[in-house]
Amino acid sequence: MSDTIFGKIIRREIPADIVYEDDLALAFKDITPQAPTHILVIPKKPIPRVSEARSEDQSLLGHLLLTVQKVAAEAGLTNGYRVVINNGNDGGQTVDHLHLHILGDRQMKWPPG
Ligand code: 5GP
Repeated sequence: MSDTIFGKIIRREIPADIVYEDDLALAFKDITPQAPTHILVIPKKPIPRVSEARSEDQSLLGHLLLTVQKVAAEAGLTNGYRVVINNGNDGGQTVDHLHLHILGDRQMKWPPG
């Protein structure tokens, strides 16, 4: 697959406000926050989108959700938060590297736009 801006962040080729890192995942603040707290959790493996994940990625996908849990707790989101995965064009995905948005510190609405 082609490289993305998130690949450059993983390799520290461009700066980001990184809040968490382990051997499989990275979390950093969104550059255009849509909530007072807006953090992206990404796998270091360059999976383009959730619809292109494979069965071999099962444990990695679980790890990403547990990373969301950990990062949200460290961010102090004790009153809840929203987790969003945009997938493909109709899903509003703009960066072709799987990422989970954590949005918090404001009341979310439903349905989403
Ligand atoms: P998507 O629309 O693909 O679900 O979300 C991509 C997100 O990446 C957007 O919320 C956008 O603000 C964020 N983003 C795009 N480029 C950068 C960047 O260079 N640095 C950071 N920290 N976030 C970025």
